[in-house]
Amino acid sequence: MPHEEASIYEDALSRLDRAAEVVGLSSEIADQLREPLEALSVSVRVRMDDGSQQVFPGYRIRHDDSRGPTKGGLRYHPEVEMEEVKALAFWMTCKCALMDIPFGGAKGGVCVDPQSLSRMELERLSRAFVQRMASFIGPNRDIPAPDVYTNPTIMGWMMDEYSQVQNELCPSVITGKPLALNGSPGRNEATGRGAYYCIKELESRKGWNPHQVRVAIQGFGNAGQSVASLLFDDGYRIVAISDATGGIFNHEGISIPEVISAKNRKDSAEDLYSSCSVCDCGHCDDTGGRCTCEDCDCPACGSERIDNPTLLELDVDILIPAAIEKQITAENANRINADYVVEIANGPTTSDADEILAEKGVTVIPDILANAGGVTVSYFEWLQNRTARWTEEKVNSELKRIMVAAFEETERFVREESIDWRTAAYSVALTRLKEAISCRGTKNFFNQVA
Ligand code: GLU
Repeated sequence: MPHEEASIYEDALSRLDRAAEVVGLSSEIADQLREPLEALSVSVRVRMDDGSQQVFPGYRIRHDDSRGPTKGGLRYHPEVEMEEVKALAFWMTCKCALMDIPFGGAKGGVCVDPQSLSRMELERLSRAFVQRMASFIGPNRDIPAPDVYTNPTIMGWMMDEYSQVQNELCPSVITGKPLALNGSPGRNEATGRGAYYCIKELESRKGWNPHQVRVAIQGFGNAGQSVASLLFDDGYRIVAISDATGGIFNHEGISIPEVISAKNRKDSAEDLYSSCSVCDCGHCDDTGGRCTCEDCDCPACGSERIDNPTLLELDVDILIPAAIEKQITAENANRINADYVVEIANGPTTSDADEILAEKGVTVIPDILANAGGVTVSYFEWLQNRTARWTEEKVNSELKRIMVAAFEETERFVREESIDWRTAAYSVALTRLKEAISCRGTKNFFNQVA
């Protein structure tokens, strides 16, 4: 009989089951967490620049609101579909609980290739999507944020559209907004910075000398760039980076500031996305192999072009998947050569790959911990929209405090229960969810009061 692959949501729930055993979760609470609270499926109709109309499927899932209003990003990607959004929303519930911030979990997205749309088409798409979601989201109900291929500009349009629908300014309905439009200092770098704090915790425990630590990063969007910059400034040797086009490898280490400026070059100031790749050479039209132009200082100089599967299998100390889901699977897990995998993407490792990595002795710092800096600073933004602006120093020091506390609590479970970091992170999250759900009234609660 052919082996049927588990859906991404079923795979996500297998993590719930493992941790449920560790913390002795009642079946009542486990059942509640297995099914999302609410799902919205819409058609987003967009008038294109040529006058035609296109219709894009859009989704928003509120997974669980036991600990607070639901929170999570919106992605624009051609592979967005309901099962994926369900898994992403479930991860947000666990992530917010692990960070101990007072939010539940949600996620959404539109199935679209955003890079094929003009800026005006993207704005119309974003505004139309908000109109479809207007009664589903809300400052105390469900608060979106950026995710894959969405950014502060898009969040700004969405906040503006929601405010127009409500007939009043509602800054706290969405986070990750531009600084000029009620955004928070430090939000843009927060996901990468949170992962950086996790790596610094490892560094202090292991006594690493950053100059000797080799790092490979798959994905060079916002989070990949931020973590790369911070590690580079500390002297870490970033030997490989990649994006959707491919990657570069340099045993001596890559000059990250140069790649960031090459990668972010835009054809025009109006463009929302750069069409450049980390592989682009700014000085020649070399398309493969090693860049050989004389006096050229492009990032590809002296680097070898590699593809994404090769990057994942490099012999490095830290591998950072910072792209999309299902990159490390049962198929390639055996060939992962890193000692540590620090997950900045959501869901880059499947559960069967987890088992193989554990057997090989690879330590995985899981997504719900390593990439939680983004939602943590989203929480600060939401707070600032209700009170007063913080300084960037305050944002970063509060982020560090929360990241380190979650890291230490997860580490305690790893030690005391002799379990892997992922199961430990879920165990911390479930312990907090269990408490909140019980306080709202479960069978046990009613039995006790009766
Ligand atoms: N999209 C980010 C995540 O997956 C941030 C979510 C948020 O800020 O609400 O964690």
